[in-house]
Amino acid sequence: MNNRVPPSHANTLRYLQGYPAETLAQVESLLAQDRVADWLLKKYPQAHSVRTDRALFDYVQALKAEYLRSAEPLNKVMFDAKLHVVKNALGTHTTVSRVQGNKLKAKREIRVATLFKTVPDEFLRMITVHELAHIKEHDHDKAFYKLCTHMEPRYHQLEFEVRLYLTHLETAGARLWEVAGV
Ligand SMILES: [Zn+2]
Repeated sequence: MNNRVPPSHANTLRYLQGYPAETLAQVESLLAQDRVADWLLKKYPQAHSVRTDRALFDYVQALKAEYLRSAEPLNKVMFDAKLHVVKNALGTHTTVSRVQGNKLKAKREIRVATLFKTVPDEFLRMITVHELAHIKEHDHDKAFYKLCTHMEPRYHQLEFEVRLYLTHLETAGARLWEVAGV
């Protein structure tokens, strides 16, 4: 824990643990002035238009075809309202083993928290790249992030901004980019 972060705010900034003290100080300042929402909305004025699981499957599949063509195929891709925003906002990646006949068949599923239905395209892209990278790299190690930045050069900046948005949701509550009917 960085000692420049006041203890009372340590919990608020838990999504941003590990970032430099200077960055955290800037976030603190934005939060104190209630400017996180404005900052995010100015940079990303609108949400993407991926509304359904079918559309999400196509979106993920297109990125996979571009960068991970030879990796095992995806069986299922879906938005999941039950994924806890706080605990699993960065998505989950599972290989569900099922017995089919006498063969154990691995099914590759990607679930994305419903929160990501109403975010900018850049944020959906970040979470998609993250989950796709897990097909090849299990841990959040150097090889994993190398693959992420290969698929999306802005990966680190985008993950920071997604974490900033999660921090905003924790502190201010209101979702930005609300879309009618979602
Ligand atoms: Zn991960």
